[in-house]
Amino acid sequence: MSHLINNVIVVGGGTAGWLSAAILAKKLSCGELGGVQITVIESPNIPILGVGEGTWPNLRGTLKALGIDEGQFMKECDATFKQGAEFVDWAETPIEGKKNSYYHPLNTVFNPSYEFNLAPYWLLGYAGKDIPYDQAVASQSRVCDLGLAPKKITTAAYDSLQEYSYHLNAVKFAKFLKEHCLKHLNVKHHYANLSAVNTDEDGFITSVISDEKEVFDADFFVDCSGSRALLLEGTYKIPWKSISDTILNDSAMALQVPYEDKNTPIVPHTVVTAKEAGWVWDIGLQDRRGVGYVYGSKYTTDERAEALLRAHIGPTAEGLEVRKFPLNLGYREKFWHKNCVAIGMSAAFVEPLEASAIYLFDAAANMIADQFPRSRKTMPSLEKRFNKSFTMRLVSTVDFIKLHYCISKRRDTAYWVDNCDYSTIPKTLQTKLEHWKYHAPSKYDFEYSMDPFLLDSHLFILYGMRFDTDLSESKASYKDIATAEHMFKHVDVMVDALKAELPKQRELVEKVYEYGFSKI
Ligand SMILES: Cc1cc2nc3c(=O)[nH]c(=O)nc-3n(C[C@H](O)[C@H](O)[C@H](O)COP(=O)(O)OP(=O)(O)OC[C@H]3O[C@@H](n4cnc5c(N)ncnc54)[C@H](O)[C@@H]3O)c2cc1C
Repeated sequence: MSHLINNVIVVGGGTAGWLSAAILAKKLSCGELGGVQITVIESPNIPILGVGEGTWPNLRGTLKALGIDEGQFMKECDATFKQGAEFVDWAETPIEGKKNSYYHPLNTVFNPSYEFNLAPYWLLGYAGKDIPYDQAVASQSRVCDLGLAPKKITTAAYDSLQEYSYHLNAVKFAKFLKEHCLKHLNVKHHYANLSAVNTDEDGFITSVISDEKEVFDADFFVDCSGSRALLLEGTYKIPWKSISDTILNDSAMALQVPYEDKNTPIVPHTVVTAKEAGWVWDIGLQDRRGVGYVYGSKYTTDERAEALLRAHIGPTAEGLEVRKFPLNLGYREKFWHKNCVAIGMSAAFVEPLEASAIYLFDAAANMIADQFPRSRKTMPSLEKRFNKSFTMRLVSTVDFIKLHYCISKRRDTAYWVDNCDYSTIPKTLQTKLEHWKYHAPSKYDFEYSMDPFLLDSHLFILYGMRFDTDLSESKASYKDIATAEHMFKHVDVMVDALKAELPKQRELVEKVYEYGFSKI
């Protein structure tokens, strides 16, 4: 038997479930002749986690490909523009009254990955004395400092003057995707508590069964059931590889903070502040901020963590309800097994820093949709490729996240001492750091275009944290000083032009909610 794959069940209706369903339905012509039918089953009484508020620019391409109107999406999901993250107090122990922050912006002016790498010239001092790396090579950190939006109301939907992604209300985003799937993409939907699974003699899943004995048949299953991992763990017992020896956080708490008034500026980037036992995120939506503390319970108590979070926010935090989340950080030994693939918290969670989760959901669903097995015979090779690709992406993500901690000069608490301890740094990252002691990172350090964090991101973190790369022996190799100096000067010209053109973030967000963007 050829075992054609014509029906897919997505288990779970959180961000991962509805995003996967939408991407698969669109690419696999759901509801059309010869297409693949996508069905989402979600529990009527297990709520979605609904906390991921930070995203990456790839989401713009995905929403556009799904036929979603950008203005409508932003309005319905309370979304604002995100242009990167500002890291406060990460590089050194904070000193009262001294600003200690750097940006990981979403764009650079000159794309050092493929043209001219400015990093060695910055390291050798050609950008000028004491100019931070992010300010020297790119305009966006200064745009963020000024509270500006990344585009104008006349810029076409999804186009940009500065690269951007979104901050959004995660509960509203899942609901928005669900409505789009049901109204426009022919996705079918059931509420059911799944409690059992049928497999055939080869171990392939043939159906999932609800606690009311309803049987749902399909040829392929996407496990988006969150940390329960109903199919990949429940049925297939695929082990979870903990990363708790490397990323020392196991808890989070979050608050929704109202703005003081409706004219309070909306910050156009995520602010990420390092603390004694973790870090605090601060995300500006249109109607409120989302603020949370990610920490290691070995280094503080929940009571102290909550007091720290409230003190960080100030008097507006008084009386606001705190939500707590346990964090089980890690990833599956494999993500695709037989005719089942896990996407979402069921597959992996590195931690909220750098907001990589929704990006990985999107990347996984797109890869599956692109290489979708229309019969069982093509499945084993796709399973292998998918598992190899996503293991690489997870190893690389863990290295990149750990980089933020382990090159810090902070040693003020046991949390920072342990985070910088060599034994907590993965071997893969140790090797990279050894190399970067004497070479600025270059495009040759990144073998895979699928790597979630490429050259630009590494340069911003390494040199934002003031990592010491010694180029004294190779100085003679960097002869194109005139080009570098011209490029550094051009950043100032760009900033002046952007200052004259870009509106404030709140002004643009409110115009978009009222009028939307131009469609062309
Ligand atoms: C504190 C915190 C902050 C985060 N911040 C970010 C961020 O800024 N950016 C980012 O990209 N990510 C972030 N994440 C990660 C991620 O985006 C979210 O955790 C995301 O909400 C998880 O989505 P999910 O769909 O995998 O799981 P869930 O939202 O948990 O959804 C699981 C679904 O499975 C269903 N289900 C479960 N069991 C059954 C059953 N037996 N039968 C039927 N259905 C079932 C549930 O009903 C639900 O619909 C953050 C996570 C945490 C914890």
